[in-house]
Amino acid sequence: MTDSSEANRKYIYRRNKLIEHLRSRGIKDEVLLEAMSKVPRHLFVDTALEHRAYEDSALPIGKGQTISQPYTVAAQTELLEVKEGEKVLEIGTGSGYQAAILCEMGAELYSIERHDELYLRARETLRKLGYRVQLKLGDGTKGWSAYAPYDAIVVTAGAPVVPRELISQLKISGRLVIPVGGRDRQKMIRITRISEDAYEEEHLSNFKFVPLVGESGWKTEEPE
Ligand code: SAM
Repeated sequence: MTDSSEANRKYIYRRNKLIEHLRSRGIKDEVLLEAMSKVPRHLFVDTALEHRAYEDSALPIGKGQTISQPYTVAAQTELLEVKEGEKVLEIGTGSGYQAAILCEMGAELYSIERHDELYLRARETLRKLGYRVQLKLGDGTKGWSAYAPYDAIVVTAGAPVVPRELISQLKISGRLVIPVGGRDRQKMIRITRISEDAYEEEHLSNFKFVPLVGESGWKTEEPE
């Protein structure tokens, strides 16, 4: 047996443990849990952090950013209620991990990242693993009108307000899941477009995300 297959077996074991943990924390969507049991999170972090990839914690990915905690990824993705073949826009590609999960769930995925270094690394990781994601380098607070409207939009960074552009890029019955609040703590909000100009808004639990920086986000990464 080679070292790499031993390592792989070790990671499969740890990944299954993580799935059990997510179930114990209340995650129920079986399609999501199945996707999370397939995506090798250790390949989305620096090799020096690989051994921590299946802990339920956020980890640094460079540029002051993080790969979100697995529970956060699961909770946010569950709220999106994505069905196979739906068109999904992610704001904040980061490592590409959540994008890979949404692909595994059968979404047609579009994702935007503002840091070129992270955008390039995520593009390479997703390509190597065979995930087909349309990636863009830029300010995701403006959405991606070229491919709109979307069945679901997920924002993986904390916003001071809900960017209007994102709401306008939802299909009727489309869902926007976004953490909104201060820099230290945000409330997860799900907005569902009921009709051309009617929306339903649900306020859910508290989370802590890195800031959404852009035209309709925070103006800087650090507090001024
Ligand atoms: N979903 C990511 C993953 O699975 O690794 C987690 C991403 S991290 C918590 C949030 C990301 O949002 C960071 O990479 C950050 O650079 C990015 N970001 C912040 N503001 C942004 C914006 N306006 N447009 C696009 N990306 C943004």
